[in-house]
Amino acid sequence: MSILKAVRGTRDLLPPETALWNRIEATARAVFARYNFGEIRTPIFEDTALFARSVGEETDIVSKEMYTWEDRARAQSEKAQSLTLRPENTAGVVRAYIEHQLGESGQLQKLYYIGPQFRRERPQKGRYRQFSQIGAEVIGPPSAGSESPLRDAEILEMLATFLDELGITGWTLELNSVGSAADRARYNDTLRAALVPVVGQMCVDCQRRAVTNPLRVLDCKVPADQPIIATLPVIADSLDESSRLHFAAVMAALDAAKVPYTRNHRLVRGLDYYTRTTFEFTHGGLGAQNALLGGGRYDGLSEAIGGPKAPGIGFAMGEDRLVLTLQALESAPLLLADAFIAPLGEALNPAALVLARELRRAGLRIELGDGNFRLKKSFEAADKTARRIVILGEDELQSGILTVKTFATGMQTKVPRSELCIFLRQ
Ligand code: ATP
Ligand code: MG
Repeated sequence: MSILKAVRGTRDLLPPETALWNRIEATARAVFARYNFGEIRTPIFEDTALFARSVGEETDIVSKEMYTWEDRARAQSEKAQSLTLRPENTAGVVRAYIEHQLGESGQLQKLYYIGPQFRRERPQKGRYRQFSQIGAEVIGPPSAGSESPLRDAEILEMLATFLDELGITGWTLELNSVGSAADRARYNDTLRAALVPVVGQMCVDCQRRAVTNPLRVLDCKVPADQPIIATLPVIADSLDESSRLHFAAVMAALDAAKVPYTRNHRLVRGLDYYTRTTFEFTHGGLGAQNALLGGGRYDGLSEAIGGPKAPGIGFAMGEDRLVLTLQALESAPLLLADAFIAPLGEALNPAALVLARELRRAGLRIELGDGNFRLKKSFEAADKTARRIVILGEDELQSGILTVKTFATGMQTKVPRSELCIFLRQ
């Protein structure tokens, strides 16, 4: 029989690496809570139409990356429903916002999520078919202040704080404004005209985009196209007065909070729903897949999927890429138990379980050996998994004085059982 393996582009996360994942998630929850965000969990699959209408038909995600299938019809008269594994989570959050009428409260909704996303991409380092995103959205009726540039600046400041607290140093925040829907339409016309004389020398994707959605040309990653793209007009020159003022206010607040950023005129992002502020945090340690996270404002998204006017701004971080970055920055975290308990002989196994239970209940991380092992084997196992070994023989049990060896120093110590906890915590 052939050996079954995890599907291409998916992978198992194993300890000790999963400890890093947990640390990232715990840090995100702790930081987001200080900004008064609450958690939302939406389904992993949704109606395909949700992504077609929000992310946009012409995007890479919808045009070629989605896992879509026809669900079985419930009755013969019914049409089979087209379902899709979520490729991103903003669409689901905004759908939930509309479905549960969260805007009725009149307050801003500040929601974060952590979970798997699915895209059929070519797997490589930092790019998988199942990957995890940590994201957040601030959305609400305009009367709640959802359009304020302060919301944009606050989100960006929160992200800078999160990365700093996580210990990710050396990130770059790239910032742009893609303006209002009208600004973008104007810019698309400008671009379309500018592309006419040069598009013949560009890749086939760009030739198609030049007709369907010229803005997407700026997203092109083909090296040969880059010199041509560098000569195209920039969107900053197509912004109207209110978009310009909004962007200036975002930058002024970031300057005041001393959050560093660089402007990138080509940052239009891979999803169609963005308006005004768009951003990416990148990190040099990641190589080709250098985007840690991306996001932006989406003032028209709710209306595009049939909801009320509900401007918002959000981001999604690639959790896999946060892990890769941390692994490159830190030496591999070796997660050792506080102690390995080695019973001397099978008869002492129950007593060893009792001792392990005491210590574990006191909050210590304990590896429990087996009295069937020879002492040499116990020492070998302990050396690989724990910082110390505690020997539990008949004498130790009777006298209540345990022998503890600390591997780092090679020191052997006699410790009364009542003081063992304190000793092992040192
Ligand atoms: P990229 O340009 O790298 O394809 P994107 O613009 O498609 O990114 P978004 O849709 O904005 O990415 O998703 C936000 C973040 O999610 C990205 O910055 C990245 O960190 C992460 N991400 C996106 N796709 C993948 C993937 N296939 N595997 C792992 N992480 C991903
Ligand atoms: Mg992508």
